[in-house]
Amino acid sequence: MASVTPRYAHPFLPVTRADLQARGWEQCDIIIVSGDAYVDHPAFGPVLIARFLEGRGFKVGIIPQPDWHSAEPFKALGKPRLFFGVAAGNLDSMLNRLTAQKKNRSEDQYSPGGRTNCRPDRASIVYAQRCREAFPDVPVVLGGIEASLRRIAHFDYWSEKVRRSILFDAKADLLVFGMGERPIWEIADRLHRGERIEDLKDIRGTAHLINDAAMKVIEADPAKRAADREKVVVLPSYEEVVADTRAFAVMSRDFQMETNPGNARPIVQRHGNRAIYMNPPARPLEDGAGLRPGETTTVAMDELYDLKLNRVPHPMYTERIPAYETVKHSVVLMRGCFGGCTFCSITEHEGRVIQSRSAQSVLREVREVRRMGDFRGTITDLGGPTANMYKLKCKSEDIESKCRKLSCVHPGVCENLQTDHGPLIDLMRQVRKEEGIKHVFIASGVRYDLAERSPEYVKELAAHHVGGQLSVAPEHVSPRVLEKMKKPGIESFERFQHMFACASEDAGKEQYDIAYFISGHPGSTLEDMVMLAQWLKEKGKRPRQVQDFIPTPMSVATAMYHTGLDPLKMEPVYTAKGLREKRLQKALLLYWNPEHWPLAREALRLAGREDLIGRGPNALVPPESAAEAARLRRTGDNAEADTGLSTNAWPRPVQPRPSGRSPGRTPRPGPRGRQ
Ligand code: SF4
Repeated sequence: MASVTPRYAHPFLPVTRADLQARGWEQCDIIIVSGDAYVDHPAFGPVLIARFLEGRGFKVGIIPQPDWHSAEPFKALGKPRLFFGVAAGNLDSMLNRLTAQKKNRSEDQYSPGGRTNCRPDRASIVYAQRCREAFPDVPVVLGGIEASLRRIAHFDYWSEKVRRSILFDAKADLLVFGMGERPIWEIADRLHRGERIEDLKDIRGTAHLINDAAMKVIEADPAKRAADREKVVVLPSYEEVVADTRAFAVMSRDFQMETNPGNARPIVQRHGNRAIYMNPPARPLEDGAGLRPGETTTVAMDELYDLKLNRVPHPMYTERIPAYETVKHSVVLMRGCFGGCTFCSITEHEGRVIQSRSAQSVLREVREVRRMGDFRGTITDLGGPTANMYKLKCKSEDIESKCRKLSCVHPGVCENLQTDHGPLIDLMRQVRKEEGIKHVFIASGVRYDLAERSPEYVKELAAHHVGGQLSVAPEHVSPRVLEKMKKPGIESFERFQHMFACASEDAGKEQYDIAYFISGHPGSTLEDMVMLAQWLKEKGKRPRQVQDFIPTPMSVATAMYHTGLDPLKMEPVYTAKGLREKRLQKALLLYWNPEHWPLAREALRLAGREDLIGRGPNALVPPESAAEAARLRRTGDNAEADTGLSTNAWPRPVQPRPSGRSPGRTPRPGPRGRQ
């Protein structure tokens, strides 16, 4: 491995003993082990945490993508004084490797050369165990999105099993969930002050294991109502949720109700004769420079983005790292999302409260990007989890801290939500005016239900920030599916589309919206997909970005997928389960592509919509050729034989229910922890 080189503005975090010597260190205080390559850029979560701890005065080293087949590579930096911090990387390792069809992905976005063999499956567990083997007396702290979203019993799509909390398998001392800056700082600070890891049981945003006796005390007097503020919420046990899908749905619902840091209570879940105990979530970071700059008991957004990072991969890499290429010239404005889309984990992981940087901090970063050798004047994205939530929040901190709603925009935008896009528009203008900046694009998903409330924002967006195509994610058109997704009705998207088209015309620009859709989402039947295909045909849209629903750990939609129940209403919900069913739904989204015609025909026949197979103006796909039809008659290779389902097995459409408004983006694997 290469050592520190002088041509970079800041020394890289040590990755070898030579780097430690170069810094004059005998040992690290903390060593971060990550499943991603070491890219010294704020979009890489484990690196941001490492640099944050370094910024607070700790000696931090990093072991990126170690060979996990023995404990030796985990000794590369010697024994850390305080703890190992372990993360699978920016994505869950299973999601990183496998597609919705459970096939290997062709590329790992977070590895050099996009290579796919650089991390193990369930990396958090493997790494934690190897750290333990390397130095049995050193505390191990799990963090990152994989640990966070597997902290209670969860459905694992890739093994089709309900797995226990990851903390039991990893055998780590603590698990940090959600965004980790506040808890990891407190852990480091208290260990440094001489407390033992066993004593750190009260840190917000962390979970630990408790024994049978402690669990029995909690079980004797658990929280039963929302008013039981001082008690602990007891989830159905691991054994119960394995045996009973209804118990699983109850677990999912009860867990979701304790996600607002303003009113969440501790949660426990029994696993055999032990249990996992979760403290309430960490408080959001403070906006901008914070209320008390320099005060170490709090963390503010600007502190993170003022950290000293080189914004490039470590020089030991000679191959390109795909995720880095996507984000290297982009700038994040905020974190968090109050959309609460059921298929997305951003609200669960980053929180519902929007935490925004100051304009000055954003401009400082823009100037840093401008100084990069390969920058040619284009900021590729000025955004975050969503493009247009910058500085949006509940009108009152008091109301917000008491609120137990899971979304501020579904059903319908909450009357308490302040949706003023003014600060965002000002910031977009300021960034455009910076010297050396030729283009500033918005590539993050635009929340059209919010954007349509601000014609000025849409105008600004269309006139200056779209490189020909704008990404938006209506996800579906069927009201009953959108209701299960907690997304706005399609009419909101259509209004936004119209506004955007008019604003583009006014600006003299020929540009289009690129809509994203999900097939196979809980609630979506073949009939719903036919409705979507017909809408696409009517609008002349041919989506190339199609996402087959992936049940990622712990989302509400995953609970629907596994249990067949909507946990928020405890009512049945239809779910396309087999891979074949999922392919049929996806084929309807791609009905315009001849490659998908055979499956699309099969789906239409199963849905009882043979009328849409033909050559008329309303048909979605043409009929089979004579030779193909003869082959089908000969082999009997028809839809029912393939799926094992009769047409009656598909639920009939129900009357559409009114749908409110909700968010506009989809959980694609991406560099900001999107899942
Ligand atoms: S009151 Fe409305 S805006 Fe405020 S936190 Fe609750 S849902 Fe969001």
